[in-house]
Amino acid sequence: MFSRNDFYLACYFAAFVISFTCLMYTLLQKRTDKLQNKVYIIMLIIVTLNAVSASMTVLSKTESLAGRVVNNIGYYTYFLFHTALCPAFFFYVVCVTGAGVGITGLKRFLYSIIFVVTEIIVILNPFFHWVYYYNSNNEFTRNGAENIIYIAAAIYFLFAIVRLMFSWKAVNKKRRFAIVYFFGIVFTGVVLQFININIKSELFSEALALMGVMLAVEAEDDLVDVDTGFYNRKALKMDVNSYLVNKIEFEIICIKVTNADIIQKVTGSVNVDILAQVLSDYFKKIVPRYCIYQTNPETFIMTLMDERADGGEAVARRISERFDKAWDCGRMDIILNAVVMYLKVPDELNNTMDLFYMADSVAPGNNGEKILTAKDLEYIIRRGEIENAITRGISENCFEVYYQPTYHMDGLRLYGAEALIRLNDSIMGRLYPDEFIPVAEQMGMINAIDEFVLQQVCEFLESGIPRKYGMECINVNLSVIQCLQPDFVKKTCKIVDEYNIEKSWIDFEITESISASDYKALGAVVKDLKSYGFRFAMDDYGTGYSNMQSIFSIDFDVVKIDKSILWGAQETMLGKIILDNSVRMIDQMGKQILVEGVETQEQLDMLKVLCVDYLQGYYFSEPISKEEFVEYLKKHTV
Ligand code: C2E
Ligand code: CA
Ligand code: CA
Repeated sequence: MFSRNDFYLACYFAAFVISFTCLMYTLLQKRTDKLQNKVYIIMLIIVTLNAVSASMTVLSKTESLAGRVVNNIGYYTYFLFHTALCPAFFFYVVCVTGAGVGITGLKRFLYSIIFVVTEIIVILNPFFHWVYYYNSNNEFTRNGAENIIYIAAAIYFLFAIVRLMFSWKAVNKKRRFAIVYFFGIVFTGVVLQFININIKSELFSEALALMGVMLAVEAEDDLVDVDTGFYNRKALKMDVNSYLVNKIEFEIICIKVTNADIIQKVTGSVNVDILAQVLSDYFKKIVPRYCIYQTNPETFIMTLMDERADGGEAVARRISERFDKAWDCGRMDIILNAVVMYLKVPDELNNTMDLFYMADSVAPGNNGEKILTAKDLEYIIRRGEIENAITRGISENCFEVYYQPTYHMDGLRLYGAEALIRLNDSIMGRLYPDEFIPVAEQMGMINAIDEFVLQQVCEFLESGIPRKYGMECINVNLSVIQCLQPDFVKKTCKIVDEYNIEKSWIDFEITESISASDYKALGAVVKDLKSYGFRFAMDDYGTGYSNMQSIFSIDFDVVKIDKSILWGAQETMLGKIILDNSVRMIDQMGKQILVEGVETQEQLDMLKVLCVDYLQGYYFSEPISKEEFVEYLKKHTV
């Protein structure tokens, strides 16, 4: 027959088996370095030891002295450990919700004071018997202070619930569910045992709940890269999100290895993880393992909490300097190039989208600086928004072509106009091409934009208005990237052929920013298009992008001298010499010359004595919308 004690023992044994198994499994996983993991292990130890203690109280007979000693030790250790369970659970919830780092000083003291007092009450029980004692029949008897322990436990339970409520958004669904499950099952177990003292469900339910927590919260299989052991994008998103929700300040260092492919080439290995292995040993010396994330094969992100005395920026600098030296990649030492970025959260970055944008986009050059900080990265964050604006602009038709008139120097007659694109974004407002064209080029969207401009210009020319007011041509900007694409010439002709216009009314402008080897290819395209009748202008002469060789090797009709050359000529003697000689030289090459950026009468007068053919600038008009431009034509031509 089963005795009551057998049933008790079965309950305790079940609790023991579950918690002990979880404990062993967790320890074997070797992921025990986070504070959260440590607190979880402490809870498992508490429940495991409690199961042992509780069994001791059942197995020992209080009639004999030895039995009473064992029984006493059982109860004593039971209370000693069990009192710590609820505070530990509260602390665990604090860790999981990511609020842990924010609780310091006085707060930490206040949160622990109840725990300390209750433990002291238990510790002093052998002397004062506040919690329990043995009556004259040597029977175990509960005393008043036991209620205090229960109330304290309830308070911590409540704290934990409140904490979870406040950080609801900081915790993902799975974890939330696991913690609510824990609450539910423990609560049921405690209530059952409270209603009927013979149902020893408390420890058992605690062990079971901890197992649930292990499976849903502690398991990190979906957060860790199996090969490298680094936390992945999902983990980064989860952690940063919880820090943001809890308003915790921290710093981020993003390390982007720009020549990661070299490892594969040099080691001849298919194993890209060599990079992660080489770097991980170094990174782990700087921050704990759980603060390192690998978001892309070549991108690593570290989170630094504010306890650091040396400051995150200094750490970033140190990391950057480490990259000056070689890394031991097994068979050989390799120099890795890296861009190190440093940001403060939430001051300089306040959402995970921007963080991933930083991690995923091409790192900007570090213009001589060792590390990139917020001011360098502002543009990265804005760049993400610009990408979105371009995509929106294409789908919602928000691009608009503006026109800026060009003039003949001779008699200051209208010559034509330059078509300049604008993007009127519904969120970011008016965007200028200097900002969005390079992004569009990188996104591969430039074709669509330039084709749109060409079509708009053709449509305008076909309307007859430009001719009516004496315009000879409209200048259309082209991106070199686009010119070098196969069948660019065919595509361009096809577009223009759909309109009833002369090809010579279109003057394409290109700024070449390419390597010398491509002059030939670009020259061939220009030659080809010119054979159909189009005109070509070289844009931005004197900005450093253009050089002599391209003027020689490509058959431009017009060379546009950049505004910086004109403005420079007003400032210094040397500037004046550069302008005068540039104009003379280009003229001697037999090219026509347009000077842009003419803003004042003074500048105009300076140009009058030089062999300049055309002018463009705010002196005449800023770029204006098509409607405004038509009005302008009506007003300014006879
Ligand atoms: P760009 O071809 O050198 O265009 C001249 C730029 O100088 C225009 O800026 C114009 O607004 C500005 N500008 C003209 N006169 C003056 C002046 O007197 N004073 C001052 N301060 N500025 C003046 P915008 O429109 O912002 O265009 C910037 C650049 O974007 C252009 O430089 C061109 O390289 C590119 N771009 C514009 N539209 C297109 C396009 O449809 N396709 C491509 N691929 N690039 C374009
Ligand atoms: Ca231009
Ligand atoms: Ca220009």
